[in-house]
Amino acid sequence: MIKLYILLFMLTAFILLACAVYIGTKHTIKHSKLAISIIQLFVLAIITSLAYTHAIAVKDPKLSEVGYIVYFCGIDWILITFLFYARQYTKVWLDNYAAPLITNTIAVLDNISLITNLKWHHAFTLREKRIALYDWFFAFDIHDYYYVHLIFCYILVAMIIVVLLKKTLQTSGFHRTRYLSILLMFVGIILINVLYLFFNFPVDVSICFYAVAAIFVGYYSLLYNPKTFVEYMLTTITERMECALISYDENDNCIYSNQFANRMFCQTGDKRVLEVRFRKWREGKDSNSISNTSWNDVYNINGDEYRFDVHFNKIYDKRGYYCGCYFSFYDVTGDFIAYEEEKYRNSHDSLTGALNREAFFEEVRRILDENLGVEYVMVCGNIKGFKLINDMFGPEEADQLLIKCADTIREKLKKGSAFARLEADRFAVLMPKSRYTEELFMTGMNKVSNYLNNAQYRMVILLGVYDIFDRQAPVISMVDGALLAIESIKGSFKNAIAYYGDMLRREYLTEQKIIGEFEEALSTGQFAMFLQPVVNMDGKFVLAEALVRWIHPDRGIIAPASFIPLLEKTGYIYKLDTYMWEQAAKRLAYWSSLGYDELSISVNISVKDFYYIDLYETLVSLVEKYHIAPYRLKLEITETIFMTEKERQLDIIHSLKEYGFLIEIDDFGSGYSSLNMLKEVPADILKMDMAFLSMDKNASKGRKIVNTIVSLAKALDMMVIIEGVETEEQVNYLSGTGADYLQGYYFNKPLPVKRFEEEYLL
Ligand code: C2E
Ligand code: CA
Ligand code: CA
Repeated sequence: MIKLYILLFMLTAFILLACAVYIGTKHTIKHSKLAISIIQLFVLAIITSLAYTHAIAVKDPKLSEVGYIVYFCGIDWILITFLFYARQYTKVWLDNYAAPLITNTIAVLDNISLITNLKWHHAFTLREKRIALYDWFFAFDIHDYYYVHLIFCYILVAMIIVVLLKKTLQTSGFHRTRYLSILLMFVGIILINVLYLFFNFPVDVSICFYAVAAIFVGYYSLLYNPKTFVEYMLTTITERMECALISYDENDNCIYSNQFANRMFCQTGDKRVLEVRFRKWREGKDSNSISNTSWNDVYNINGDEYRFDVHFNKIYDKRGYYCGCYFSFYDVTGDFIAYEEEKYRNSHDSLTGALNREAFFEEVRRILDENLGVEYVMVCGNIKGFKLINDMFGPEEADQLLIKCADTIREKLKKGSAFARLEADRFAVLMPKSRYTEELFMTGMNKVSNYLNNAQYRMVILLGVYDIFDRQAPVISMVDGALLAIESIKGSFKNAIAYYGDMLRREYLTEQKIIGEFEEALSTGQFAMFLQPVVNMDGKFVLAEALVRWIHPDRGIIAPASFIPLLEKTGYIYKLDTYMWEQAAKRLAYWSSLGYDELSISVNISVKDFYYIDLYETLVSLVEKYHIAPYRLKLEITETIFMTEKERQLDIIHSLKEYGFLIEIDDFGSGYSSLNMLKEVPADILKMDMAFLSMDKNASKGRKIVNTIVSLAKALDMMVIIEGVETEEQVNYLSGTGADYLQGYYFNKPLPVKRFEEEYLL
């Protein structure tokens, strides 16, 4: 009989060991405090049950007594560890740090007392207990001190029960089983133990239940996840999801739709609505072959437009049989709107709402490619002197004008056209040729210009039309064509329309050719400096103006008017100008070496030079390189420098002047800001072209103007050069005005440097 018990207890120890190993090797739960406390519990239970087995198995009283002592001590530690485990498991009293210290101390004292039982036998003594004739073992009789141990143990038991009970009562229905099962198991084992102690069972059979307890503890604490709870959690989550979920069974009955889905598609709550919808969706689809798919859809719900990312999925069981399907709808309306807004911002001009340049080019390409049978025209519009409008009426008014322009164009356009604001005051329209009429645009233009026309100012709009004959060509060349047509009517004083015709087309092609040839021409010395003398009133040469000529290998000498504006437009002018300045500086140095220290050369400076290079740095290093006095290289600027960033240009001019350069105002009187120029630019020389005066008709008025300008310049301490002097009569008259120098064909044309030197120096 006793052997049977021994076998049972050994089996218990084995099961405990197996449980401990299983939990210890299970990766996911390895390191939690709870798992560690459970393993500790198992190890202690193994030691305790083995100690007890030993105590009843041996026939030597001393060895048996040692077994019992370990068994009693083990019980202490099992309970302490169980309490620790229960606290970890239930999270009850977790923040009580003093209790473990007290219980551990008492346990240690109790253990010491139990060990000393070997000497004093104050807790228990052994006695042979016979079950059958040859079947006996050492049982123990308890003494007074044993009760101290017992009370300590029952206090621990009570604490464990309180912890588990508290949790069992305070947890949700889903989790109650987890705690209740452990509580019942624990109370059960304690009851069996009590029965054994007080009702004289032969051996402590409660130990056998350690194994059952181990399985309970391991399973409920670490593995158990109640199915109803998982279900509850999942439905709560899907209910609250910000996406509509609808699922159907294999017979297409709607079995579930979450709150969001009901709000969107089934306000009445009648699931049949969803079933009808589903059937409609299936119509005309081979839905058997679709197992999952997704798409974007627009739904009108209570008058609002919603965009959904829709997913459809079928569900199959483990054997592959169809069980049902579900739809999920993600509301992407917000993202869509944000995306559309962003797209709009990137492709439209914020002021007028017209397309911007890049978007227009794309749109034109698309229209041309998609409508091969339709012929189109490109129409570009430009407000003449828009800068002036800005100055005169202020930027707000100018903006209003642009908005007005855009609105008028929009009003006249129909589908199949595109329209853009290319930059500042430039609009472009692509439209079918069949719909284009001059009248359509003229009425629009007149309407817009009436907006600003008043006594002081007449607003002029110019339009260029390009007939798209080469639809494969880059869109930019079509726009360029229309703009080129505008160039041809630049001088118009009333609203006008021009067409890109054959002549313009040829001009355009030569322009393209010029740009293509420019760089090579510059590096192979095709550009030559010509010099035109500027003489004083005695007819003596003191100064020359450097004027460029392109000596083209095929086309001969090309005048600057054919390429300078183009180089200015494309930004290449600075390359030519720096080259010319260097030629001039070199010449001045050469003249010095011949002893002509007092002679100067004027060079032309384009407004674009201010942007593309560091003008100060370039000019200063030139005069330093050739060791010439800066005043000998005179700088001709025109009022175009006032068109943009006036202050910046003025700063540069001031610093050049400070360094010692002399500044000439060229073509004085040709534009609208000449007087401003006089006031703001610290110029030394004023240069006026006879051409601006048209002396023939109103000779006496013209003379008065020259006289006045000369005296104005004198009053401002400036010298005066009159250029474009062609006749003796002009010379005679000018000699009486007080002008300082004269320049013009009457004296000489611009000459190649060598010829100039032959005539004037040698
Ligand atoms: P500009 O600076 O006003 O130069 C004077 C222009 O008047 C020159 O034309 C010159 O040949 C011309 N001219 C001289 N005397 C008379 C005359 O008695 N009657 C008439 N009708 N014309 C006369 P050109 O050389 O054809 O230059 C035209 C313009 O090209 C220049 O006007 C200047 O603005 C520009 N230019 C010339 N060379 C350069 C250069 O190297 N750099 C830059 N940025 N511009 C240059
Ligand atoms: Ca000039
Ligand atoms: Ca001039």
